[in-house]
Amino acid sequence: MKQGIHPSNWQNDCVVTCSCGNTFVTGGTKKAMQVDICNACHPFFTGEMRFVDRQGRVDKFQKKMQLAAAAAAAAASKAKKTIKTKAEAKSYKQILVEQQGELKAKKEAEAVAEN
Ligand SMILES: [Zn+2]
Repeated sequence: MKQGIHPSNWQNDCVVTCSCGNTFVTGGTKKAMQVDICNACHPFFTGEMRFVDRQGRVDKFQKKMQLAAAAAAAAASKAKKTIKTKAEAKSYKQILVEQQGELKAKKEAEAVAEN
């Protein structure tokens, strides 16, 4: 064995537990490992054609979606608050219409003053 390249915490009694319930002992740097699939339940070894559902993947995805929904709701409420705090949040179109109205009024006043 070459010196200085192997982990010092190597153990020959690492217990591997599969999601199917199968357990076996092997060597490793950890005391215990949790795996999703093993030789007892992998379709290659069992010979059956089935969809391999990795443990916790759907739950993880649903959790992610819930977090996303919560974040979206928070963002929406924040957006509502910012509009409320500004009291009169005018749209760009409203501002343009107001300015055009002011210009028209000025021009009419000038026209009246000239005549
Ligand atoms: Zn298994």
